[in-house]
Amino acid sequence: MDYTPCGGTVQSPVNIEGAVYDPSLADIPQTYNSTATHIVNKGHTVQFNYDAGSSIVVGGETYTLLQFHTHTHSEHALGGASFPMEMHFVHKNEATGKLAVIGVFVREGAENSFLKGVVDHLPATKDSTYNANDTFNVADIMPGNKSYFTYSGSLTTPPCSETVSWFVMENPIEASATQIGDFENLEHENHRPLQPVNGRTIKFHKG
Ligand SMILES: [Zn+2]
Repeated sequence: MDYTPCGGTVQSPVNIEGAVYDPSLADIPQTYNSTATHIVNKGHTVQFNYDAGSSIVVGGETYTLLQFHTHTHSEHALGGASFPMEMHFVHKNEATGKLAVIGVFVREGAENSFLKGVVDHLPATKDSTYNANDTFNVADIMPGNKSYFTYSGSLTTPPCSETVSWFVMENPIEASATQIGDFENLEHENHRPLQPVNGRTIKFHKG
């Protein structure tokens, strides 16, 4: 990945530590409907495009879920530690163009029931796709505990636009070593290096 176009001082990902508990934060209001399966090999990541009609509310504004994708290993770190995988659920405010991305760490453990249904269908080459009528809901993929860290940052791929409100879930989900390996084999090391925090406050919500 060529990060030459990237600049700025509020970049992502970051190492999450020293977060400040903020009692004014709440669970993110989520309206997630099921989607059919649309998987795209983007070359640098495996992306799952989401059917229209699902959204979250951030700062009183609605952000529509567009897609989620994966990084191996994780991009964010927690107390200096990386996880073998991280999923990014990308939501867009259609009025302002701003993004709200929910990051979910994946640790090695039990087989993941969502991934079990898709790992055999991951498109092997860039720009290839897999589409199916099989439905699933991201609400079933995300951790049950809604604690999160939040900070202002950027896209982690060029042009690294500083338009992202990040919500990194504290609790990881699990996938088997084999499942994580299936993504690693396609994406290789598609994680941007950690970026300086530069005085930003990382806030914590206890779910
Ligand atoms: Zn990402």
